[in-house]
Amino acid sequence: MFTNPLIVKILDHYKKIWAIDTLKALSAWDLEVYMPENGAYFRGQAMGILGTMQQKLLLDNKFLTLIKKVQNDKLNIYEQAVVRNLNRVIEKNKKIPSKLLEEIEETTNQAQIEWRKARENNDFQQFAPHLKKIVKLLRQKTKLIGYKTHPYNVLLDDYEQGLTVEKLDIFFGEIEEPLKNLLQYVQRSSKHTEHHTLENLKYDKGKMRELNNKVLAYLRADKTRLRIDESTHPFTESISVDDVRITTRYTDTNFQNSLTSTIHEYGHALYELQINKDLTTTPLGGGVSLGVHESQSRFFENMIGRSKGFLNIFLQDIKALSPQIAKYVENEGIDGVYRYFNMVKPGLIRVEADEITYHLHIKLRYQIEKDLIEGNIQVKDLPAIWNETMENLLNIKPKSDTEGVLQDIHWSLGAIGYFPTYSIGTFNSGLIKYELEKSIGMLDNLIVNEQGIEKIQAFLKDKIHKHGSTYTPEQLLVDHFNSKFSTQYLINHLEEKYKKIY
Ligand code: MG
Repeated sequence: MFTNPLIVKILDHYKKIWAIDTLKALSAWDLEVYMPENGAYFRGQAMGILGTMQQKLLLDNKFLTLIKKVQNDKLNIYEQAVVRNLNRVIEKNKKIPSKLLEEIEETTNQAQIEWRKARENNDFQQFAPHLKKIVKLLRQKTKLIGYKTHPYNVLLDDYEQGLTVEKLDIFFGEIEEPLKNLLQYVQRSSKHTEHHTLENLKYDKGKMRELNNKVLAYLRADKTRLRIDESTHPFTESISVDDVRITTRYTDTNFQNSLTSTIHEYGHALYELQINKDLTTTPLGGGVSLGVHESQSRFFENMIGRSKGFLNIFLQDIKALSPQIAKYVENEGIDGVYRYFNMVKPGLIRVEADEITYHLHIKLRYQIEKDLIEGNIQVKDLPAIWNETMENLLNIKPKSDTEGVLQDIHWSLGAIGYFPTYSIGTFNSGLIKYELEKSIGMLDNLIVNEQGIEKIQAFLKDKIHKHGSTYTPEQLLVDHFNSKFSTQYLINHLEEKYKKIY
């Protein structure tokens, strides 16, 4: 894979940067899962220092000279990708003073803890000063890195190379109408209900844990390389190709949330677990972008986890969740459970949103982030702006900050520019499903067949996972599939599916 002697030297130096990355990832996982809340201050300092050590390693003069020199050599695609990926981060890092990096790290480590408390206390103003500082620091970053048309483009590019406000305005413009039309279709159907009995039934958390583990076993999860824990906001963290962590959450009711969270995160985890091991410790060793990453998680969550075949496999385990749930399932059978996992209604919480309204939640966040970074709106006004936009888009209004502006962890992480990748990723999953069915057969059959899951995972590995960051996100999708990105694949999938249910 890597034979050029200069590249070998470059990768040898890069290994130090990678080593710090693995510990930063472990620390991020620990912060969400185990760290006592007062640990944030010194943890933030330590992470800030590790970040600046990485930056020093990245901007090391000898290292930069090697990279410049190797560009005259004839390189294979992996070697070219190493140079391309390194140049991308080096150019950004050259423009950001280490002081700012440290400050971002310290601020966000503290902000995560403050967000959690504010969310528990239903008090946005408790979190507001921290968010205000994050926005200030990120605005500073956009100025330092520089942009042609919009400062938000700088942040978008961190999560999805080449993604811009210009592209997203077109994207959201294109999807809003068909989604709203489909929502209207569903709401007018005689089969549509605002509530589902299963939503409010309590479940046994121990049994739910068992179910989550059974689902992971069905998905062929390798527990020697993957573990599952609990956190406020489910997430995936890859420590290395042989050590990937996912989390899920348990609430009192609405058990589908725990199940779909587990499957969603498993989709992320599988991507990281199936990357070619020879790429580990190199700049090609991780998933290429969030838009591609979310295509994997949303594919597993929606296309597999919400399918009738999949739910039918676990019907007995669902019955075991509580006597009330068992009684419901005995009366209504798989159709009732299937409707529960695919009920459509405008709700307040993004992670609980159905496949149709989900993207309107993302549009709300996109608009707010764009305006915040542009300086058009102030942090202190966010609850009011949130609630008003929510009413415009989904015709419902949150009664509290916890179920409104405080619901997501992302801003406390400094992850502004992240949300749009959820929608882009989901629409990518429409393309992936289309190509997968063309190549290995109908998904509904694969889900219930003995070797089906293996076939799905092998397909994803071959087309996407194993390549790590060898290709740009666009190259990866264009070169490995016969079709180009289009919003039509997912719209077709949704229309076909929901016109069958409703
Ligand atoms: Mg995700």
